Amino acid sequence: MIKLNDVNNKKSDLKPSIIRFKEIIKTTRRTTISTHIDPDGDAIGSALAMYFFLEGLAVESKVIISSAIPSNLTFLTGVKKINIYSGKQDDDFIDGCDLIIILDLNEMSRLGSVEVPIARSKSKKVIIDHHIEPKAPADLYLIDTEASSTGEILWELIAGYPSSAVSKEIAESLYVAIMTDSGNFRFPRTDADLHRTVAQLIDCGADPVMLYENVYNVVSLGSIRLYGMAYSGLELYFSGKLCIAVLDERNFIDAEATVDDTENLVESLHSIAGVMMGVLITKAPGINEVKVSLRSKGDFSVRDIARRLGGGGHFHAAGARVAATSVNEVKKMIIELAESILND
Ligand code: 5GP
Ligand code: MN
Repeated sequence: MIKLNDVNNKKSDLKPSIIRFKEIIKTTRRTTISTHIDPDGDAIGSALAMYFFLEGLAVESKVIISSAIPSNLTFLTGVKKINIYSGKQDDDFIDGCDLIIILDLNEMSRLGSVEVPIARSKSKKVIIDHHIEPKAPADLYLIDTEASSTGEILWELIAGYPSSAVSKEIAESLYVAIMTDSGNFRFPRTDADLHRTVAQLIDCGADPVMLYENVYNVVSLGSIRLYGMAYSGLELYFSGKLCIAVLDERNFIDAEATVDDTENLVESLHSIAGVMMGVLITKAPGINEVKVSLRSKGDFSVRDIARRLGGGGHFHAAGARVAATSVNEVKKMIIELAESILND
C-alpha cells in the first residue's frame, strides 16, 4: 500500500499512475469493478466504460455495486452486466479476483454493502476518483481533483490505448459520466479540455442528442409530484442566501415516488435569484437515515457543512447521511452550520 500523501492529484501527474495501471492490467486475470451507493451518472458510466474497456483487453470482470441503478440510466448498453450485491455468489467472485477497481469515491463506507467483501479481499486495489483527500486504502490511485468527473480521468486512461479500444459503448458511457457530473457542461470544471474530450467521444460514436434525451428528458410522474411538494414548502434563510427543501416519508408515499425521483432537484434550488446555497433534506420510507444534498455557488463551500454532518464531497457539491434523526433536526443543524458562512 502506498501512503495517502503520495496520491497524485493534478492532471499532469496522472501519467505515472496510468503507466503503472497498464503494467498491473497486463498480469490481471479477473477484476471486480465497484462504485458508490446511490450511484449517479458518473458512477454508472465510469463502471460500464471500465467494464467494456477490460472486455476489450480480454480481462474477465464483473461490476458489483450496492444499490439500484437510477431509472434514467437503465437505457445504457451494458446495464444488465451490473450486479447489485447479493451475498455469497458475489463474495466468491470478489475473493477470486486479482484486482479490484474502485471508481468515483474516496471513502470505503461509500461502497455500501460491497465494503466488507472488498475490504476483506487480499487482491490489489486501484482507486480512480476526482474527490479530494482519499481516505480509502489502495495500491494505486488515479486521482485528479481538478477533473469534472471520474469519467474524464477514465478517458485519459483509455484514450492512451490503441484507438480501437474506444468503442461506441465506452464513448457513450464516458459521455454520460462527464455530462452528468459536469451538470450538463455547466459546472466550474467545464473547460476547453473537457470539451475537446467530449468532441472525441462524439467522434467515437456517442450521440449527444440521444444521450441527453434519455438522461434528462424523461422524468417520472412521481418525480414531478415530488418537485411540486418540495417547491411549495421551500424555506429561505440569511436574507435569501440559503434555500432549504425538505421531503419526508409522507411526501414520498403521497407522490408514489422513490429517492431516484429527487434527481437534479437540489441543483434547481440555487438557480433562484439570490440563493447561494441550496439544500435538499430527504427521508425516504424504510430507510433509517436522513439524506442531505448540498450545492453552492461562488465563494461559498458546502464541503465543511457536509463533513460536520459526517459526510463529504466537493466545494460546490457535497452530501451526507445522518442516521437515527429527523428531517427537522437535520434542518436545524444545517441552519446553524451555515450561519457562519452566510450571515454577514
Ligand atoms: P449528492 O448530493 O448528489 O448525493 O452528492 C453530491 C456529492 O457529495 C457526491 O458526489 C459525493 O462526493 C458527496 N456525498 C454525497 N453523499 C455523501 C456521503 O454520505 N458521504 C460522503 N463522504 N460524501 C457524500
Ligand atoms: Mn463523480
